[in-house]
Amino acid sequence: MRRLLLILPLLAPLAACMDIPQATQKTASRPASGTLSPRPAFRQCLSELGAQRASFTPLPDQYFGEGCSNIGTVRLSGLRSDTASLELSNLGPVTCSVATDFAGWARFGVDRAAEQILGSRVMRIETYGSYSCRNVAGTNRRSGHATANAIDVSAFVLEDGRRISVLDDWDGGTDAERRFLRVVHQSACKRFGTVLGPDYNSAHRNHFHLEADGASFCR
Ligand SMILES: [Zn+2]
Repeated sequence: MRRLLLILPLLAPLAACMDIPQATQKTASRPASGTLSPRPAFRQCLSELGAQRASFTPLPDQYFGEGCSNIGTVRLSGLRSDTASLELSNLGPVTCSVATDFAGWARFGVDRAAEQILGSRVMRIETYGSYSCRNVAGTNRRSGHATANAIDVSAFVLEDGRRISVLDDWDGGTDAERRFLRVVHQSACKRFGTVLGPDYNSAHRNHFHLEADGASFCR
């Protein structure tokens, strides 16, 4: 009994001490998200995107494992054409690099081509999204979508109400609509590293895949 009484006062401080490493570990084991990427290249890219008068919010870096991540990404909520706002639909996180290429293409490649070829400005660009943790179809290689570095564009809605879609109008549209889609596909090739459309394969019959990977692959 005397021995137990001697030990008890020693246990109390020990138990208190044990709490400290546990608490520290809990803090340290939180995911490394919640902080914005500090990299200078990312900051530089954000300022370029701002200069294009895009509406966007920088997102925290996130690693999802198995080669999938959102590093240096933004949520792009709208763009500017020469004269108006350009809406975007269904777009998730995108890397800042693909966002800046996209902003330039939308204004100079798409909106101006629509005005010249179809006689109406573009109001909205519809997409099938950007981030998706997946491989290039039929390969074991990670897609540009696995790092949110690619955007799939499916259609263009004009101010006059017309909707030009890759699926319906690449082959089935009027002469002007078909020409418009080919012109914007070609102008995408000047800005993005990899551009894939309906002529590449049937997986791309309904969208343009636009990726900022520094390659020169235009199909
Ligand atoms: Zn794609």
